Amino acid sequence: MSPTPGTPPRPLTIATCSLAGCFGCHMSFLDIDEALADLIDHIAFDRSPLTDLKHVHPDGVDIGLIEGGLCNHENVEVLREFRARCKVLVAVGACAMYGGVPALRNGIPVAELMAEAYLNPAAQGKLGGPLHDAQLPQDPELPPLLRAVLPVHEVVHVDLTLPGCPPPAEAFRQLILAQLAQRDLVLPLHLRHFD
Ligand code: SF4
Repeated sequence: MSPTPGTPPRPLTIATCSLAGCFGCHMSFLDIDEALADLIDHIAFDRSPLTDLKHVHPDGVDIGLIEGGLCNHENVEVLREFRARCKVLVAVGACAMYGGVPALRNGIPVAELMAEAYLNPAAQGKLGGPLHDAQLPQDPELPPLLRAVLPVHEVVHVDLTLPGCPPPAEAFRQLILAQLAQRDLVLPLHLRHFD
């Protein structure tokens, strides 16, 4: 890929993170496939499953791609740090934008959900038979659940969104090209999925 006028001289730094998501949005990003080879001289990954870095560099990155909504207090902490270290935060996919599938639990009180998952013999039967000494998880290291699964924008400012479940790979590519050329992202209709 030849340098585009206006392209920054240093690589565009990108971080990615998954909260209450299924990693399907990350997989779609990787579906850019061979076109990623054309971009690779112009981008550098910071925090992401590809690098296995757990925190964004304190100096920050140009773009942060966040997948998933927020289902527990740890998600909130992770998101706040991620937001603080990303110049442009992109909410990627239906879970980050609206809560998505995990938010289906939002109409049910947390105590009821926990009892159904861990104490209800019928539910345990579906998982392969009743458990002995069934009890609720007590480990203090487990982050408490939020009352409801929240979309990212309810906790931090979001600069851009990529809709879809997941967004198409080409939408990720267009996002990167727009950022490299320092222009607004304009996605054609066929790349704006809401399913
Ligand atoms: S939007 Fe869809 S693909 Fe992305 S994390 Fe949520 S469920 Fe998975």
